[in-house]
Amino acid sequence: MKKNMNLAKVSNYIGRFAPSPTGSLHLGSLYAALASFLHAHANNGKWLLRIDDLDHYRNAPGASDSIIHTLDSYGLHWDEPIYYQSKHQESYHTVVDQLKKQHLVYPCSCSRKMLSPYSSSIYPGFCLKTQINHQDLPHSLRIKSQAIDMIFEDQLQGTHNCAIASDHGDFIISRKDHIIAYQLAVVIDDYQQNITHIVRGFDLLDSTPKQIFLQQLLTYPTPQYCHFPVITGKNDVKLSKQNLAQAVSTEKPEKTLFLLLELLNQNPPPQLKKASIKELLDWAIAHWQVAPLKKIRAIKQQII
Ligand code: GLU
Repeated sequence: MKKNMNLAKVSNYIGRFAPSPTGSLHLGSLYAALASFLHAHANNGKWLLRIDDLDHYRNAPGASDSIIHTLDSYGLHWDEPIYYQSKHQESYHTVVDQLKKQHLVYPCSCSRKMLSPYSSSIYPGFCLKTQINHQDLPHSLRIKSQAIDMIFEDQLQGTHNCAIASDHGDFIISRKDHIIAYQLAVVIDDYQQNITHIVRGFDLLDSTPKQIFLQQLLTYPTPQYCHFPVITGKNDVKLSKQNLAQAVSTEKPEKTLFLLLELLNQNPPPQLKKASIKELLDWAIAHWQVAPLKKIRAIKQQII
């Protein structure tokens, strides 16, 4: 079989898969795991596993173990000890204190109800303008957005262009319940783990400018981004735990792996239908190419 030689090899590539343990992996999340795994290995990189378990209200009992077991059954092995967000609370709070000292954040006690009459998701800035003492009130922390244009190049989706203040506003970095918001936690984690490449679903593309903005404020390097299509089921809705996507079976992983390679537009040859997990992954790493997924935002899975 001919090897794909088009992919530039990157030195010191470190990629990751960062599932939230809100349930077992479904076909869509396993697809994201496989894409980031293949991309890392095709670039001679490392692939890390991070469990995004900060939001303990949403964590499902047994979900982390189930995710780990599924990845293992599919031969997707990580290259360093698993990084659990919940074990790194101190690093988040150090950064929040730093942002406070630099006056880059402000407390906000507005409730969802108060904000509901405003159609836009951009925060109208009430708590920035008022001088109330928030100390006795439950409050979140919002980043002060800036009137800057953010342009970045996504390996698959092309040039992404937006204005931080008008498109994203003063977004929350620490919630009222004291949980560090995803946007900040992911930036700190990627920095702590020296992540150079972020390969994840298209649904997170809109979060990327906020994350790059935070990286710039914190003087962290910006990784390269590659947003893959998401898998949709019936009604073109993304497969997710919320819409009750089924957990993938660990019974016959070879069959599902072959299907996933087809959904990744890798065009696996039919003789691989009888291949082992290792043979399938070796073939996929050697032939990996992202070009067949360029500009695709969603891939419909027929057999659900
Ligand atoms: N934990 C996030 C999720 O499961 C993904 C984080 C990321 O890849 O940036 O949607």
